[in-house]
Amino acid sequence: MLLSCKYSNFYRTMRRSILFSLYFFVIGFCTCLVMIALVRFWSDNERKEAKQSGKASFYKLGQCPDCKVISTRHWKVGRLKDKLDLHLESAKRMGITPFATNAEMEEELPKLLRRRKLKALEENADSYRLKNLTHSQPYLVPEAVELLEEIGVRFHDKLKELNLPPYYLMVSSVLRTDESQQGLGKRNINATQNESSHIYGTSFDISYKEFLPKHEKPAPEGFCRHDMMRHPLAEVLTEMSEEGRCLVIREVKQACFHITVLE
Ligand SMILES: [Zn+2]
Ligand SMILES: [Zn+2]
Repeated sequence: MLLSCKYSNFYRTMRRSILFSLYFFVIGFCTCLVMIALVRFWSDNERKEAKQSGKASFYKLGQCPDCKVISTRHWKVGRLKDKLDLHLESAKRMGITPFATNAEMEEELPKLLRRRKLKALEENADSYRLKNLTHSQPYLVPEAVELLEEIGVRFHDKLKELNLPPYYLMVSSVLRTDESQQGLGKRNINATQNESSHIYGTSFDISYKEFLPKHEKPAPEGFCRHDMMRHPLAEVLTEMSEEGRCLVIREVKQACFHITVLE
């Protein structure tokens, strides 16, 4: 009798503690779900607000929603390895007589701009921004400016197809002089082999490592610099070089596409 009473007590306590732990488990689980939902809701809202107000928002590497969309599509990209000789040939045909020194360029520039031999790149262009140009000046022959603008428009069209917002291309090098070219240490070893088409005003570099969102604030170290955007850009360049509009080399060291106008 005493034994059975003890057992039933034992069972009752057991059942109660099981019920309690089940109860706490369910409560804990539900709280977690609610918390996750709230955090998601808040971050979604923040993202929407940031997008609407043009406020800078940065994404940790691999977590950028725009880059994720790009990575889900197959992009048709060619080799983009046109020989340097071809770039130089086109540059000499379509370009200006190179400036020996930076001082000479400054002196000659107004005349060349007036005669429409050169054109300045826009500071507030729709599709590109100039990087900090240390060894070059933002001028090109008009045909090359047109080419850059068309690359920008077609790049934005590709993003639009995927319902993505426009990103600026980053132009990293434009017109150089013999002097600034030497500053880059490229003509010292072998002048003909290392001659650059940048001195003719027909070539420019677009970074494939960094694309700028519309808020124009570069992402800090460790955050997405939107390098997935290189795929739609490379597809545009492939199409345009197949159309005979330009020559392209993918420069691994400088992480840019070196582009020369062809017609
Ligand atoms: Zn990104
Ligand atoms: Zn270049």
